[in-house]
Amino acid sequence: MLCDMHTHSSFSPDAERGVTIAKMAERAEALGLGYITVTDHCDCVYWNKAEEQDYPEHQKSDSMMFGAREYAVQSIKEIVRLKENYPKLLCGIELGEPLQAPEAAEKITAMKELDLIIGSLHMNAGKPDFYWMDYSKIGLDEITSLLDDYYRELLEMCSVCDFDVLAHLTYPLRYIEGDHGIKAEHDRYTEKISAIFKKLIERGKGLEINTSGLRQKYGRTFPDLEYIKLYRKLGGEMITLGSDAHKLGDIGAGLKEGAELASEAGFRYTAVFRNRKAVFVKI
Ligand SMILES: [Zn+2]
Ligand SMILES: [Zn+2]
Repeated sequence: MLCDMHTHSSFSPDAERGVTIAKMAERAEALGLGYITVTDHCDCVYWNKAEEQDYPEHQKSDSMMFGAREYAVQSIKEIVRLKENYPKLLCGIELGEPLQAPEAAEKITAMKELDLIIGSLHMNAGKPDFYWMDYSKIGLDEITSLLDDYYRELLEMCSVCDFDVLAHLTYPLRYIEGDHGIKAEHDRYTEKISAIFKKLIERGKGLEINTSGLRQKYGRTFPDLEYIKLYRKLGGEMITLGSDAHKLGDIGAGLKEGAELASEAGFRYTAVFRNRKAVFVKI
């Protein structure tokens, strides 16, 4: 049974317009998915519109009309409303940068409606999202320093923040290696990544296999097989599969391939979250 645990509706500022949650649930049913969890963005640093206005122009999305709080609340409300009609629909949120705005993060993690919280890091503290960086103007040394900070912050986030599953580990490689073809010296992070995995395991949190990279230039999952195997080797047992769809057509994309990678790494089950508790389903 394949379950998509990471998807976005139009309540996410960077998703395609017109992607209603009802359409997503219908799409998941048509695809025969076991479950679909809608996990719209809540980047904690953009909690209020007023705060968001303080951010540099290039960090604002055209469709970002409200603060992150408003999008999150609207999304959750709509999922809860539709859950009765769609038994395979689950209520999630992608909690971005909880370490950088802990008060906002706490307001989200206190919400009882949530089945799943995936923890994300899209930007180092005080820096733009990795998506926005102009890599043609950044030297390899600076990229190394950005990645050093990324893994340092991620380890701290996994040590103290409240979430259920770590989303898209190795996210910066989507842009650095994928879109810009810059080969980062990534092996130097194996120790840090091991520490992140140990922390996830110790705190009972899962690891996401994010399949969006398979349909992008990067061509691999976030994280890729090497790290999925490492997580397993260190005793990791809880993985989820997520397409990170930002449009209807991408729902369920790559889940089969992701499940094959999980099997190859030795996993027999993936996790689905209900009321923030993992339920294991056979791959
Ligand atoms: Zn994300
Ligand atoms: Zn996402």
